Amino acid sequence: MTEAPAGRAAGARSSLQVGGLTALTTVDYPGQLAAVVFCQGCPWRCGYCHNGHLQPPRAGAPVSWTEVMAFLRRRRGLLDAVVFSGGEPTLQRGLRAAMREAKSLGYAIGLHTAGIYPGRLAGLLQEVSWVGLDIKAPWQRYDAVTGRPGSAARVQRSLDLVQASGVDYECRTTWHAGLYPEEELQALGQELAERGVARWTVQPCRLAARATV
Ligand code: SF4
Repeated sequence: MTEAPAGRAAGARSSLQVGGLTALTTVDYPGQLAAVVFCQGCPWRCGYCHNGHLQPPRAGAPVSWTEVMAFLRRRRGLLDAVVFSGGEPTLQRGLRAAMREAKSLGYAIGLHTAGIYPGRLAGLLQEVSWVGLDIKAPWQRYDAVTGRPGSAARVQRSLDLVQASGVDYECRTTWHAGLYPEEELQALGQELAERGVARWTVQPCRLAARATV
């Protein structure tokens, strides 16, 4: 995988490929009423992925970015935030312009990312006010979980960047016992705490069970 600068100049209309839209959520951006824009495309192949339809970089888009913006204009004053999720949002070069367009309407911007493209993430952090960073597994398990070599180093760099940015964030791990033992999950939580991660959410099979370090 190669990386390229994310986004376009401010004011440019985004070409974001949208795979879906959730009109209202209270759980995807802590403390905020938010809409979630699901971005098309992800280069990883996690075995437990529940968004397989979002993995191809292009697919029959159920909603266009223009339609999303029209929706966001109608919801001004009713929603607080827009969360860009996926898929892997940072895959798309139109993400930054899309964030800026949504921000111009007064929304706070959230980002769900697996930290796949740290170089692109670095250029996006100034646009966002909250990041949900997926920590897929203990570092030694990463490639097996994501199906891609070298994935752990990318995420470690992304975590470093998010922490250095000062942007509010949480780390999130989806786990079940078939992936790796619970003892390794606990060790991961300990390591994240030692790295200064204040909020770590564990989602067993996408259920809402939570743990905080
Ligand atoms: S990073 Fe997320 S969207 Fe991509 S394959 Fe893994 S679970 Fe699915």
